[in-house]
Amino acid sequence: MDRKFNFNPGPATLPLEVLKELEENIVDYSNIGMSILEISHRSEEFLDIINTAKSLLRELMGISENYEILFLGGGANLQFAMVPLNLLKPGEKADYIITGSWSKRAIKEAKSIGEAVVAATTEDVNFRRIPKLEEIKFSNDAQYVHITSNNTIFGTQWRTFPDISHIPLVADMSSDILSRKVDIRKFGLIYAGAQKNLGPAGVTVVIIRKDLAERCPESTPPMLRYKTHIEKDSLYNTPPVFAIYTVKLVLEWLKRNGGVEKIEEINRRKATLLYEAIDASSGFYQSTVDKDSRSLMNVTFRLQDEDLEKKFIKEAASIALFGLKGHRSVGGIRASIYNAFPIEGVERLVDFMHRFAKTH
Ligand SMILES: *Cc1c(COP(=O)(O)O)cnc(C)c1O
Repeated sequence: MDRKFNFNPGPATLPLEVLKELEENIVDYSNIGMSILEISHRSEEFLDIINTAKSLLRELMGISENYEILFLGGGANLQFAMVPLNLLKPGEKADYIITGSWSKRAIKEAKSIGEAVVAATTEDVNFRRIPKLEEIKFSNDAQYVHITSNNTIFGTQWRTFPDISHIPLVADMSSDILSRKVDIRKFGLIYAGAQKNLGPAGVTVVIIRKDLAERCPESTPPMLRYKTHIEKDSLYNTPPVFAIYTVKLVLEWLKRNGGVEKIEEINRRKATLLYEAIDASSGFYQSTVDKDSRSLMNVTFRLQDEDLEKKFIKEAASIALFGLKGHRSVGGIRASIYNAFPIEGVERLVDFMHRFAKTH
């Protein structure tokens, strides 16, 4: 197989080792004479898979027993609704910090459920930076503060999280979970769709402080309560079995390769290579993000005009650099370089960028 360097933003590249393990087990899982896709979610084999995934996540992220870990369906988008459905009672409010398209979606869902207030936004500068801590106007009576830790579309990422010990911090970490060391104790709830840094589409990880699950109003349907899923260990309904199995393999891969500390170091090296290439191009490539807000996961930049960008994307694809087109809402170039994206692909892209700038 002629494997491409896949810069897609999500679903995104997976470790080749994991794909090979899947291939081996897809027909006959662990010599039981059945596929992983065919066995019960209550079977011994699957319980072992989900429990292993959970404990690996606990270990890799340093999650204490104070928190529950859930594997749910519905994507990060369902969490946009589940968070307010569980943490807001009638008449209560929440603060949202708006740093891009996903936070806008999140507050839209929250507004359909309760009062959601914009505590800060950088929309006036087309989301080219994360707000400074002193710009954020927290409400005194907010039940939680919601942030998007990495903005997949705009290429920005929170460097330091707000210290608000008295209000639970809720974070959408879909596109940077496990990419760097994070102090879990700063958060009340973290959620992440798997298809960027954790595995395939179809499963969403929720990490929730136990006391917060108790807040849920009676009016919330049982299926949408965190408490329901906690009580049933993520087996209230049939969970996305195959996606959870793949997440387990990805977590094992990450652990084998030195865990979060090591991957963070590699992620920094990969992103630095790209940002240096942009900054050294005398304006041929223009970063769309302020330096102190640059993402380690999604590197976004522009060229002089759209025709040149099209040419860039096409020529890159011809040397196996695939998926570099920016999101349709912002245009330009976006290189998504999640945990599983190999540094060799970044080196090849940097090389290509130098050559392309010289010839154009
Ligand atoms: C991709 C993404 C989402 C959307 O996830 P779905 O699983 O499609 O619902 C939400 N938030 C962020 C930060 C994302 O990167």
